Amino acid sequence: MITIDNIHKAFGQTQVLKGVSLRVEAGEVVCLIGPSGSGKSTVLRCINGLESYDEGEIAINDNRVDTQQKDINQLRTRVGMVFQRFNLFPHRSVVENVMEGPIYVKHEPRQQARQHAIELLEKVGLGDKVDAYPQSLSGGQQQRVAIARALAMRPDAILFDEPTSALDPELVGDVLKVMRDLATEGMTMVVVTHEMSFAREVADRVCFLYGGQIVEEGSAATVLSKPQHERTQDFLRRVL
Ligand code: ATP
Ligand code: MG
Repeated sequence: MITIDNIHKAFGQTQVLKGVSLRVEAGEVVCLIGPSGSGKSTVLRCINGLESYDEGEIAINDNRVDTQQKDINQLRTRVGMVFQRFNLFPHRSVVENVMEGPIYVKHEPRQQARQHAIELLEKVGLGDKVDAYPQSLSGGQQQRVAIARALAMRPDAILFDEPTSALDPELVGDVLKVMRDLATEGMTMVVVTHEMSFAREVADRVCFLYGGQIVEEGSAATVLSKPQHERTQDFLRRVL
């Protein structure tokens, strides 16, 4: 469903991705781990066309991701993204934040978009915050609004870029629970995370990125507990 074939990407003189290949099947959860600067965010940004790549190919359900393409916005609606910082609109209520995309991008009728948004807010445990404003919510609640907002577009897959890294430790659990539920329901997910226990429990596959290449990949049990590559062993010693 998401096919990444040997992509290369440079920023100026700096080669950031040096031949990354990855297949993510429908319903699969893949966790991307690796040190700072290894290219994790760049991989995600290339998948949903926020960033172009220089060589190789990315396809979503056989549709090539090409930032030059006119229908790139169409493609972006099919792949949701959740960032470390939630970037909710501060002057819109929670439900309005979630309705925004379906109304303006997919031209859904307002009433239908609102109904769906409320259902999604209930699903992420925020049924009582529908009319609240983002600033009155905790970071963990805001991040769950961001997840509801991504789901509102009815995406084929969701990419998460360190969704819990900016949260106070006591708020991380609620966000991970929502993500775990999504995984159980069969959402296709690529998750950049430092939460190794989440990766161990939820990921079908873990990929370790180092210096712009996937140097090791396999089941969570293998990569996290019996890493073969010295770089992976080194990294895990630091984070575990
Ligand atoms: P972190 O764990 O710190 O988020 P990461 O693995 O997500 O790191 P990336 O953000 O993908 O790493 O960055 C990979 C490399 O590309 C880094 O050296 C970074 O400085 C560089 N880079 C990323 N975005 C840009 C940009 N827009 N312009 C120039 N260099 C960039
Ligand atoms: Mg990053």
